[in-house]
Amino acid sequence: MSSAEEEEIPVQEVVPARSGVLSEVGFAELSISTTTKSALAGLGFNKMTHIQSRSIPQSLAGKDIVGAAKTGSGKTLAFLVPIIELLINVQFTRKQGTGAIVISPTRELSLQIYGVLRDLMEKARYTQTHGLIMGGSNRKAEADKLLKGVSILVATPGRLLDHLQNTKGFMFSRLQILVIDEADRILEQGFEEDMHHIIRLLPKQRQTILFSATQTKKVEDLARLSMSGSPVFIGVDDEAASSTVETLQQGYVSCPAENRFLLLFTFLKKNKNKKIMVSLLGLGVLVYIHADIQCVQFAAVPVKFSGTWEFTTPVWTRGPCTERPPILLLQ
Ligand code: ADP
Ligand code: MG
Repeated sequence: MSSAEEEEIPVQEVVPARSGVLSEVGFAELSISTTTKSALAGLGFNKMTHIQSRSIPQSLAGKDIVGAAKTGSGKTLAFLVPIIELLINVQFTRKQGTGAIVISPTRELSLQIYGVLRDLMEKARYTQTHGLIMGGSNRKAEADKLLKGVSILVATPGRLLDHLQNTKGFMFSRLQILVIDEADRILEQGFEEDMHHIIRLLPKQRQTILFSATQTKKVEDLARLSMSGSPVFIGVDDEAASSTVETLQQGYVSCPAENRFLLLFTFLKKNKNKKIMVSLLGLGVLVYIHADIQCVQFAAVPVKFSGTWEFTTPVWTRGPCTERPPILLLQ
């Protein structure tokens, strides 16, 4: 078990949320305890972000939530505030075992969440116990602490499943609330089966909050599996800026398949002064075009896509151009 003494967990620096994500509503307007409000203010949190102002009241009302919001939109407090309030209200004690679990995809993200949780609990002087379990940490020390009772637990999926299955005396039958943070990343990292096992082992009578930057089919499936009733869907990206950087211009042209190359050729000739990379995904090859020479040069190289682009041959050393082209066109 990681705790303030055993693990180097930096005190969270309150970096103001990205511009545009703050709402006009303050934490002070929520129906939460004054102690939590003062702790939030003491840590520099006054106005809520959009995802916070829209999801916290629903979470406090006990609803299951599926939330979509970009990185940096303030999801951590969006789930930590309801967790803390719920456990304070029911006066959850360590004898009851674990009352809330937050699952996050990586050690780094788990550490960040735990840091915010610990700061908030300490600022408010709440006595509920909290802890962190994650791959790579001392399993035995984690198990010992779990046996003593950890009310709020932050965990990575693999290590959580390990303790759920193998740590005798880890009590989770009184679980009140489960949070799945960055669900899309959890699934991308191959934890789908672990998540299914975890959900099968946890008590069904509980509240569930799931956050994901993108809503994929697999995320939908996980939401369905982890929630019994119909959840409240909250998306804030449709109101705020688009999900891509503001300087990126996007567009598309629809044309008959047989004219694709002609159209592409014309487009490239018009943009001869730019370096352009074209990916023809359907063909499984990447056509690399260096357009700042007289004629367009093609060099086909095999390419794989598995979350990130992988070039199976060294693209950049081919032909006369060794620079990485700045534009990527996806078919
Ligand atoms: P996400 O999980 O959506 O990526 P975080 O919860 O990590 O976002 O928050 C991103 C940053 O915004 C953090 O530095 C956090 O301290 C800050 N932040 C979150 N909520 C607020 C708020 N209500 N007011 C000011 N800053 C906030
Ligand atoms: Mg986050």
